[in-house]
Amino acid sequence: MAAKVVTGEPRTTIYTEAMEVFHRAADLIGLDRRVRMELEEPDYEHIFYVTVKLHTRLAPLTQETDKFKDLPDSELLPDGLEPLLDGSFVFKRRALIGANLQMRDGVVRLKGKGLYKVVPGRPERFKAYRVQHNQARGPYKGGTRFHQDVSLDLFKVLAAEMTWKTAIADVPFGGGKGGIKVDPRSLSSEELEALTLRYMYRLKPLIGPDLDIPAPDVGTDGTIMGLLLRQYTDGERERHKLRGVVTGKDTRIGGSEGRVKATGQGLAYCIQESFAERGTTPAGSSFILQGFGNVGSNAAEILCGLGARLLAVNDAGGTIFNPAGIDVNDLISYVYENPRNLRRTVGGYPKAQQISKGDLWDVDADIAIPAALGGEITGPVAERLKVKLVAEGANGPTTPEGDRVLAKRGIELIPDIIGNAGGVTVSYYEWIQNKRMEHWSETEVNGRLEQAIKSNYRIIRDIARNMPRRTATHNSSRYCIGKEIDMRTAAMVLALKRIEAHYQLEGFSQ
Ligand code: NAD
Repeated sequence: MAAKVVTGEPRTTIYTEAMEVFHRAADLIGLDRRVRMELEEPDYEHIFYVTVKLHTRLAPLTQETDKFKDLPDSELLPDGLEPLLDGSFVFKRRALIGANLQMRDGVVRLKGKGLYKVVPGRPERFKAYRVQHNQARGPYKGGTRFHQDVSLDLFKVLAAEMTWKTAIADVPFGGGKGGIKVDPRSLSSEELEALTLRYMYRLKPLIGPDLDIPAPDVGTDGTIMGLLLRQYTDGERERHKLRGVVTGKDTRIGGSEGRVKATGQGLAYCIQESFAERGTTPAGSSFILQGFGNVGSNAAEILCGLGARLLAVNDAGGTIFNPAGIDVNDLISYVYENPRNLRRTVGGYPKAQQISKGDLWDVDADIAIPAALGGEITGPVAERLKVKLVAEGANGPTTPEGDRVLAKRGIELIPDIIGNAGGVTVSYYEWIQNKRMEHWSETEVNGRLEQAIKSNYRIIRDIARNMPRRTATHNSSRYCIGKEIDMRTAAMVLALKRIEAHYQLEGFSQ
């Protein structure tokens, strides 16, 4: 048998790729070797499994349909059938109330819908994760993602990003991230609830309000946070003291005013600050957008409120374009208030042209906002862009090659770690309010958020320009490194200097 040749070449993964900027900034500032080692890999990588019982489904029958030509219609209570994205229905027992069921060989014909095969309910196992990257500055903090395309490597990338982001936002947290490998749209609402509760049942020993604090991310929201809170605090004598175990909750159960819009709002503050540098405002500018979820739709609504025009949107279900501008409130109603829009997509929006995903990047506009998933602005996409500014709402939307092309073409960049830091900043406000049993007004939250985002953005810009300054709103004198660097590296320099201070001044526990 031939011996395996070990080349010693490190394997390139999305994690090693995402850490390129960390190494670049660490080299530039001569980061202490031990601190570098502490930050290079996460503190903990938890992988576990959660099981849940899936209900019976009615799946569309596509083969041997002739055999059932004469099968009469069944009449089931519509309330007992929950439609799923793949065209099947979750069958609930109440569907049988007053029903007329005509089944043959496990097949039924639903009136007006066609033939369906009954797939009996069964238990299913899902892979779950929580990566705790670093806690030098405070408890681990980061979102919970329910998505079919997650992996340990992806959660390592996202958890590390949180360590940098919490340092940049200057909130007393470290970085973490986790979630479940599942398409939540393939589950009924009851199954999703059971899965969420079971996830927290397994997670409980690993987290806590002063240890690790999850929040919403792709595929999760305030409702899921409410379930996580309930499961964590269930049966605890002092459960009211534990509200800060998750952030992004409904405002009626300890959530903060302004949290739902916070990430989009923070991005809008960065964009305003970038325009202010040139003595202008976003009024009259135009933008293209990828992702119309929490971050994308809120950023769009706020920017349009400031007088900007939305020209095109791409999401998982389609791409739309209107050179005269898209009415963002009307689009929000189309996506979120139309019960027939099961995929919650902009695709099919009648007041715009339907274009291909690739064509989005060719639209002439002032700003491009990626607010969906990572790795979308690749080198070739960056070559096509006809914008002056890329404002990153998503985590890691630009690849290292995309970065190089943007820099070469002189396209300005608001990097994700400051661009989408509004979410974690308001999560911190939520956590303090929970600790103090307070409830702040939206005006107070947004006032603090604006001050925090704009001053940290100014520090990063000063580092990039090598312009140390001490003004009434910010002080960048400690962070500039004696030469000009790009904005992404500048943001990382700020993060590393703030984290390194903890190791330097507090030392290492042995
Ligand atoms: P969301 O689930 O509310 O929305 C995601 C959006 O992305 C949807 O419009 C979906 O259709 C779209 N999308 C998914 N796959 C796509 C694909 N392949 N191509 C095009 N579009 C696609 O999620 P969100 O909370 O808005 O998060 C979006 C991004 O922002 C993520 O990268 C997330 O990590 C990041 N982020 C979110 C927050 C927050 O507070 N929600 C904070 C910081 C960063």
